[in-house]
Amino acid sequence: MIKKLVLSFPVDATDRPLVYDLIRVHDVSINILKAEIQPGKTGSLLAEFEADEAKINEAIAYLNDNGVLVSPVSSKVSYDQERCIDCGNCVSACFSRALTIGAPDWKLRLDPERCIACKLCLKACPLKLFKIEFADM
Ligand code: SF4
Ligand code: SF4
Repeated sequence: MIKKLVLSFPVDATDRPLVYDLIRVHDVSINILKAEIQPGKTGSLLAEFEADEAKINEAIAYLNDNGVLVSPVSSKVSYDQERCIDCGNCVSACFSRALTIGAPDWKLRLDPERCIACKLCLKACPLKLFKIEFADM
């Protein structure tokens, strides 16, 4: 399973290799979507955790034991379909293939399940039609 999580690091945890431990010790694949971490300051990380549920729960418990707050998030990407001209710019930017365009109608399609909230479509759309919202679950 894949869970999208926000990690909030206290000051004394930002210089410890906790993410490395999650991968090496807890066997969880981590896909970092956004990171704001500097040594000596509080930090935050938006990441996808991929493993079976038990391993993800172990990883969350490990982070909690180390003072890291973990909150699940859902992200919702959307675009203004009325104004879309189906130019395909956003499709080229979307490497997770959440956005596709093709036969028979060559209209843009969005698969929210594949979206990893990278925000590249926001920059790619010449008409600025995308918005992305994050919400606690
Ligand atoms: S946020 Fe990223 S993954 Fe999601 S639709 Fe946009 S480009 Fe694709
Ligand atoms: S880049 Fe914008 S206008 Fe072009 S297909 Fe994507 S959403 Fe539509």
